[in-house]
Amino acid sequence: MSDQKEAANKPKQLNFSCHCGAIKVSVPGDPAPEHINECMCSNCRKHGAAWVYFPVEKVTITKTGPTKAYLWDEKICEFTWCEACGCTMYWYPTAIFPGGIKKMGINTRCIDNLDDLARVEWRVTWDMV
Ligand SMILES: [Zn+2]
Ligand SMILES: [Zn+2]
Repeated sequence: MSDQKEAANKPKQLNFSCHCGAIKVSVPGDPAPEHINECMCSNCRKHGAAWVYFPVEKVTITKTGPTKAYLWDEKICEFTWCEACGCTMYWYPTAIFPGGIKKMGINTRCIDNLDDLARVEWRVTWDMV
């Protein structure tokens, strides 16, 4: 009984993983992310990525395989993907963003359970965060 109660009270978590499973990312799911951003900047649209944004300290990344990263233009974020399966997992900030927060983007295309984000508003913008 007490185990069940603890499970029910456990804060929701959003879990993301690449296709081969080598890279896993988790973030708190409660409260739910404000929105999903299908970013139309020159890079994201070519990755087909759609992001949720979290302060770096809220994100847990587990790697059992190598990643590769790409920086461009002002080099304020490292786009990172799994070297084995090629899934774009997240971008990691090399800079502090407006508001003084170091945020990172997690690619919602890699969410493990689609239902977890079913009620989150979808936006299409050119804004990075
Ligand atoms: Zn992979
Ligand atoms: Zn973008």
